[in-house]
This record gives sequence, C-alpha cells and structure tokens, in this order.
Amino acid sequence: MGRINILDSTVFNRIAAGEVVERPCSIVKELVENSIDANADIISIDVKDGGIGFIRIVDNGCGIDADDLEKAFLPHATSKIKNIDDLNAILTLGFRGEALTSIASVAKISVLTRTRNDEVGSFISIENGKILEKGERGCGFGTTVTVENLFKNIPARSKFLAKQSSEESVITDMVSRLIITNNTKSIKYSVNGKTIYQSSGGGLKKALYTVYGKNFIDNMASIKYIMPDITIEGYINKPYFTKPNRTYQTLIVNGRYVINSDIAFCVYNCYRDYLMKRQFPVFALAITVPPDMIDVNVHPNKLEVKFANAENLKKSLFKIIKRKIDEMTVVPKDIIMESNSSDIQHEIKKTHRCK
Ligand code: ADP
Ligand code: MG
Repeated sequence: MGRINILDSTVFNRIAAGEVVERPCSIVKELVENSIDANADIISIDVKDGGIGFIRIVDNGCGIDADDLEKAFLPHATSKIKNIDDLNAILTLGFRGEALTSIASVAKISVLTRTRNDEVGSFISIENGKILEKGERGCGFGTTVTVENLFKNIPARSKFLAKQSSEESVITDMVSRLIITNNTKSIKYSVNGKTIYQSSGGGLKKALYTVYGKNFIDNMASIKYIMPDITIEGYINKPYFTKPNRTYQTLIVNGRYVINSDIAFCVYNCYRDYLMKRQFPVFALAITVPPDMIDVNVHPNKLEVKFANAENLKKSLFKIIKRKIDEMTVVPKDIIMESNSSDIQHEIKKTHRCK
C-alpha cells in the first residue's frame, strides 16, 4: 500500500503559516503592509502582551468588499496580482495571498471593514481556520484587523516565542522600520495602551526624527542620486557617528523595508577608515529601481530582495557615499593655506575626522 498522503488544507495552511507568521512582529508587518497596499494614510497599531495576546491595526484604506471578505482568507487569495507576468512587475507590498490565511490558521483574527461604496460594514471572525462569526456591522470607512491568542492551540509553536518583553521589543523595532519606510503615512504605535510613536507622514527626515530623535538627525547627512534607472536617496551618518550594532540601518527598496547584506556591506566598506572595531555605519536609504530589476519573492516573508544589476548598483552606491564622506571630511582650504608644517596639516586632518 502506498504511504503518501495528500495533506488537507488545515494542515498545509498551518505548515505554510510557519513561513509567514514566525512571531508576533511578522503579523504586525503583514497587516501594516496590507493597510499601505489599501492606500491608507492613517494607520494605528496597538499591541498588548508582546503581541501574543493582542494586535490591532486600524486603517482608513479602501476596505474589503463584503463579497470578498470570506474569500480573502482562502489560500492564495489576493486582489494584487492576476497572472504570472504580474510577478515581474510587483508594485504592491503583498502579492502572495498568504498573510490572512496564515494568521487565521494560528490565531483568532477578526476583520471589520467598510469600503466607500458600502452603506454598512462587514465583519468576520475566524479562529484556527474555523469561522466563528460573520455578518454586517456598523463602522467607519477602512479596515480594523484584530489578532488574539497567537499559537494558543499550537504548543509546538508557542514554546519558541520569546518572553513578552522580548517579542515587544522586536515588534517595536519592526514598527520603527515601517514608520521610516512608509514615511508619507501617519502611523501611531501603542504598547499596552501607551503611545510609543506617532509619525506625521511628513517624509523620511521627520520619520527618522520621530523614531530616533533630534541628536540622530543632527548627525546624519542627506544624499541624493538620480539616474534614469536608479534613484538612491536618504541619510547616512557623519563619519564619527557610528553605532555598535545594525539596528540603525534601514534599507528601503521600491518602498519596501528589506534586508540585504550585500548593500549593508557595501556601505560598511565606504566607512571602513572611520569605523572602530565592532562599530557600524548608520543609514536610512531608499533605492528605487524598475520593478523587473528586483526579485522580492526570495522568501515568503518578503524581507529579502535580490537585484538583477547588483554589481552596478553597489558601484553607484559606493561612489556616492564615498563622495559624501569625502565632502564631510575635507579640510577647509584656508586652514591648509595658513599652516606651513605638514605635521600640523596631518593633525588637522585627524581632528576633522574624529570630531
Ligand atoms: P496579499 O496582501 O498578498 O494580497 P493577504 O492575505 O495579506 O494577501 O490579503 C488578502 C487580500 O485581502 C488582499 O489582497 C486585499 O485584497 C485584502 N486586504 C487585506 N487587508 C486589507 C486591508 N487592510 N484593507 C483592504 N484590503 C485588505
Ligand atoms: Mg498582505
């Protein structure tokens, strides 16, 4: 007798959920990205108990049609792409149609939503893949998604969660990247009822200010490079303002917060001469390339990205960052003219570098 089983949907959805929903912060990221894709410009994020007990995202986006609400929870249900060609030109943050299904298979999720065409809102609540309740319900325009009891009935997963305070700080880090990335959206973030961040949506500089404060901004320099197929803009640290870890590095590619070790290493190399041991540069860089020049489908969590023209991109990046560092470290001409001794010139150079 054959031994191969075809898994039913509850089992494979839960397996697939493992790739999308690793921990509470993955839920926050997926839901905020859904709000951004829905063209929301005001988003609020509330978490309690490290996100394990409670996550709520409220947006003023386009909402979900009443007819689509149950469908949105089916595997591979998406309004963002239709066919294989669309995969080469992804303009939205989501496209895999996995987040809602995955979350619904490992937690209790409720969605209350209303489009601009609907007289009344629609509501659905699902726990571990089973519909608990659905129907009409009064609400404003937009969507509210609430997630509770993450991994409650899945001990194999819940035991891999860190303690609430650690999960909370991972969420806070993710939210800060989302605020920096989606810097034209007003995003409010609260933990256990206390507001942590409230961004204005006034651009990258203001978002950095919201998240890291004034001293941070004062120690950053802006760069901008526009070519037909590539735009690089953002902020890099003044040479002496380095940090002992990579927390302060945010890479945005085509509007998406991503992690790319090649790019991070390229920036590191630009600063090599100025970095003490175990120090890292600080940056918030937005790179924009034609959508067919990147592959965001490297991992289900869409945090990694591959560039088709990686070498060219790194060359350009290296050139512009190096040029900016040189500008920032150059010794003013009048100082050089006044000093006759080469020793003094050397000293001046050193002080300018280390200030
Ligand atoms: P994906 O984002 O990859 O399409 P999801 O499972 O995250 O897949 O969402 C499924 C669908 O539900 C989306 O394509 C979208 O149509 C709808 N949706 C989810 N969240 C929202 C939201 N906040 N506002 C409007 N529509 C939403
Ligand atoms: Mg999504």
